[in-house]
Amino acid sequence: MMKAAPWPVMLAMLASLALNLWLAGAPGWAWFPAAIAGWYLADFASGVIHMVMDYKVCTPGVGLDQLYFYEGSRESPDYLALRDQVWTRVGPFEKLVYDFKNHHPRPDALGRRPMLVQIGSTILFATLPASLLLNLAALALPLPGWMIAGLVVFIIGATFAQYFHGTLHKDDNPPLVIWMRRLGLLMTPNAHAIHHATLDRDFATNTGWSNPLVNRLFNLAIDRRWLKPEGLEPN
Ligand SMILES: [Zn+2]
Ligand SMILES: [Zn+2]
Repeated sequence: MMKAAPWPVMLAMLASLALNLWLAGAPGWAWFPAAIAGWYLADFASGVIHMVMDYKVCTPGVGLDQLYFYEGSRESPDYLALRDQVWTRVGPFEKLVYDFKNHHPRPDALGRRPMLVQIGSTILFATLPASLLLNLAALALPLPGWMIAGLVVFIIGATFAQYFHGTLHKDDNPPLVIWMRRLGLLMTPNAHAIHHATLDRDFATNTGWSNPLVNRLFNLAIDRRWLKPEGLEPN
């Protein structure tokens, strides 16, 4: 379904982040609040994107509903043939939208994917372009070092958002993840379970710090019909 980003893309990502940190110069005290703000922003981005993808209406009539509501085995030749057929009719973005919706009835599949697959689309579509833009901005403008550092933290947090989401759906996680949960720098599976029980709140999946704000945005978006409840499942 989703693929890992090719290795030149991964290398470009690492090189671009390293260049940003180098351009940020020597660390100062202001890096600390900037890093916390960057970590908050990454959580907010995870929430807003998750919210929009959950409720964005899929293109009707291309068979995404048949895949979503398929009743037999998902390893059967019949299902796999259907899936290949549907995938020829939808672009990469629509696949991503489908993937978010498909996460609700089948949440554990996300945790089973390798990390590079989980973060591949995010790097390709969002955080590599963002990091390259920051390279250009930091080269062309006199940006303060703390601002570049905070944005680097934001880009890293956003890059790993789907990986962090995946760790909420599996039991065996690296010690770093457990340790960050204890410090409150990542959210807990119990806190994320509220999203799966309701599907209309707590969309942020990194720390959950921004959920009070994202929940307000969601209620506003539903009231104004910017997002439509019927978008939650393909039709
Ligand atoms: Zn969701
Ligand atoms: Zn989930």
